[in-house]
Amino acid sequence: MEQLDRAAKKMDLSQNLHEILQHPEKLHIVSLPIVMDDGSTKVFLGYRSQYSSILGPYKGGIRFSRDVDADEVKALSFWMAIKVAATNLPLGGGKGGVVVDPREVSESELERISRQYVRALYDNLGPNKDVPAPDVATNPKIMGWMVGEYSHIAGMPVPAAFTGKDVDDGGIAARATSTARGGFYLLEKMRIKQNKEANSMRIAIQGFGNAGRVFADLAYAAGYNIVGISDSRGSIYCESGFDIADVSSYKKNTGSLLGYSGATEEWPESRAVLEVDCDVLIPAAIENQIDSSNVDRIKSLLIVELANGPITPDADRVLEGRSVVVVPDVLANAGGVIVSYYEWYQNYHGEQWDEDATNEKLHVQITQAYDDIAKMSQEQDCSMREATFIQALRRINDGYEKISQIQHRKVI
Ligand code: GLU
Repeated sequence: MEQLDRAAKKMDLSQNLHEILQHPEKLHIVSLPIVMDDGSTKVFLGYRSQYSSILGPYKGGIRFSRDVDADEVKALSFWMAIKVAATNLPLGGGKGGVVVDPREVSESELERISRQYVRALYDNLGPNKDVPAPDVATNPKIMGWMVGEYSHIAGMPVPAAFTGKDVDDGGIAARATSTARGGFYLLEKMRIKQNKEANSMRIAIQGFGNAGRVFADLAYAAGYNIVGISDSRGSIYCESGFDIADVSSYKKNTGSLLGYSGATEEWPESRAVLEVDCDVLIPAAIENQIDSSNVDRIKSLLIVELANGPITPDADRVLEGRSVVVVPDVLANAGGVIVSYYEWYQNYHGEQWDEDATNEKLHVQITQAYDDIAKMSQEQDCSMREATFIQALRRINDGYEKISQIQHRKVI
């Protein structure tokens, strides 16, 4: 809300819309009774926040995590509304989650939770209402169960009801790598503008999941030095850079990064990697990782937020004061939802898009958004975050005015 207030002040956002955007349009909280493998019944809590539909159907992921609560999904769905507007997609913002640690349930229990989530929220979901996708700890397999359940209840295949599906379920090949790829395209653009060589730049990445691992692969292949990596269990560091394929196979075999022989230092905390000496920092895990307790030890002068909300507002102000460039989440990780939009469009029109062509389309769309936002941040003398919010709020404002005109048109 502080981010909204700052941008609203700068752009003279109408009082009415400012008031409207301080609340989600709808917040659903559902009980999901699940028969566990041992025959007992356990109730899990499910959430879906539908923040704004001014520009189109709600869009945003579903996360499975023990930390999910109403405040978290509300904030994340607000950021989705900003993200889709900033990148010029005809969509609104939503986000959901289930309070569950997927590591503590069996695969069949996870499937029942996923299907029950759709049964509980069926009336509120759909290609023209609300289109979920993967987020933290959810993946194409889970989207497959969900779209299968949705289609079963609908009595016909409805592939456009969910995105981030496997290609066999109507997904789009480029979606699996698109969140990281979008951020990577922006980093490349900035590097080329600064006339730097990739191999002269050291990167540290927090998170080795849907976003962080793919980003590491892309950056490594392009010649960057990945000097720091972390997962939820801990951080590893190597001044001369890691071989990412080797790290990935170690993590796959052992379930952890700790103990990797190529590391010269390691720490049993995920956040330790944020403080290593590097040129580019990529928080790619969860919210609130850089806060007042560690912001003074952040060394990187460029941060690309692949996670949603990794920097708290007070830490953000400190970084701004130190002229650290932050490419904000609502732009840096928008590649995911951009390609989700292509998937939704493809499903609607019965098309099948080629992976390279999709990546090229993503490249054009996200770099265009970046150019517009970078220009605005110069013109308005504000951070990229504020500029992204201003760009998004202008589009939402235009949409709001159109809706108001339609609603006030007299029926003759
Ligand atoms: N969960 C992703 C995000 O936070 C993607 C959302 C989507 O593809 O709809 O942007």
